[in-house]
Amino acid sequence: MVSYEEALNIIINSVIELDKEKVSLRESLGRILAADIVSDMDMPPFDKSAMDGYACRQCDLQHILSIIETIQAGSLPEHKILKDQCSKIMTGAMIPEGADCVVMVENSKKPGKDKVRFNNVNSNTNICYKAEDIKKGDVLLSKGTYIKAQHIAVLATAGCSKVPVARKPKVGIIATGDELVEPQEKVSGSKIRNSNSYLLAAQVETVKGIANYYGIGRDNLKDLNDKVKKMKQENDIVVFSGGVSMGDFDLVPKILNDNNFKLLFEKIKIKPGKPVVFGISDVDKGRRKYCFGLPGNPVSTFVSFELFVKPFIYLLMGHKYKPKSIRLPLIETIIRKKSERMSFIPITITGEGVKRVEYHGSAHISSLPLADGLISIPIGISEITEGTKVDVRQI
Ligand code: AMP
Ligand code: MG
Repeated sequence: MVSYEEALNIIINSVIELDKEKVSLRESLGRILAADIVSDMDMPPFDKSAMDGYACRQCDLQHILSIIETIQAGSLPEHKILKDQCSKIMTGAMIPEGADCVVMVENSKKPGKDKVRFNNVNSNTNICYKAEDIKKGDVLLSKGTYIKAQHIAVLATAGCSKVPVARKPKVGIIATGDELVEPQEKVSGSKIRNSNSYLLAAQVETVKGIANYYGIGRDNLKDLNDKVKKMKQENDIVVFSGGVSMGDFDLVPKILNDNNFKLLFEKIKIKPGKPVVFGISDVDKGRRKYCFGLPGNPVSTFVSFELFVKPFIYLLMGHKYKPKSIRLPLIETIIRKKSERMSFIPITITGEGVKRVEYHGSAHISSLPLADGLISIPIGISEITEGTKVDVRQI
């Protein structure tokens, strides 16, 4: 049995990054940048006005000035500013030669036609100077960046209309269990509905993987064998739910082994989610296939995906995922009977701090939508007292 940290390290060290592709700006949201983005120009590319106002010389600010032209954003100034002259200028327009400041229109009066004088002048030049934001050749975004809306604005500014991103990993998903029926089917007798396939597909798609679903695998060697062969061939990663613990029909580790996956661990000292299996294939033409066997109880499936599969998928795409975490006080004392595993507990955030959601154990899937995050209790710790600040990993 490996620790949480050891399991993560093993996963991280097995990664061979996926190749890249180019997508349009609009398609790049949520993808991982596969190259550094370098600016091909200065920003701003010229001295520009930060205000609607009058471009003039600071030494003339106390005088009545003649307005010699109006400069619109996007057009070039035609006249140089000389003594006691100014040009009316719009935000974003180029500062005319000779001017060294812009006075806001709000601080001006018109004493006559084509004349202006100023009140409330201060030392602000109201000029955005050439290259003050970005210099040509600056690295604006680094390889491995997770692309959000704000990054897309930077990509557009840099003229990067075809964005180099990591290819989406293909993830084959299968739920195992003779007790499972699909959501649209009627449940009777000893059956339950399969929630995990849909949970996992949604988790994969949240991290921009391609989720391929292979249906319910029955708890027999033949069915699982047939399915895993196809899944392995068609995907980068195969993910099983269920069939990984100690029962007579928990066949997944054997099936993975039989299909040339080398299992690097089969149990982790965490709760929920002890029987998490991870394996790798041999490297073939620079590529490798990976497998995860996740425990069948839905909360365990969810948590083990969050903890291990999600950072793994991001790393395959070249992104070092850091879960969003905030430090908040506990508003209740948490006591646990056993402390030989690291616990992950679903919590909710209130105005005062953090408290547990009602949670009966790893089968209690309806507790999860109520949770804002998970807190962890390290091995060896059996009590965290009210008031202690804890790190909340947001989900
Ligand atoms: P297993 O890991 O196969 O021993 O399953 C552990 C528990 O999770 C059992 O109670 C299963 O019925 C339940 N379970 C397994 N797979 C699923 C699934 N796909 N959806 C919902 N519950 C499941
Ligand atoms: Mg099972």
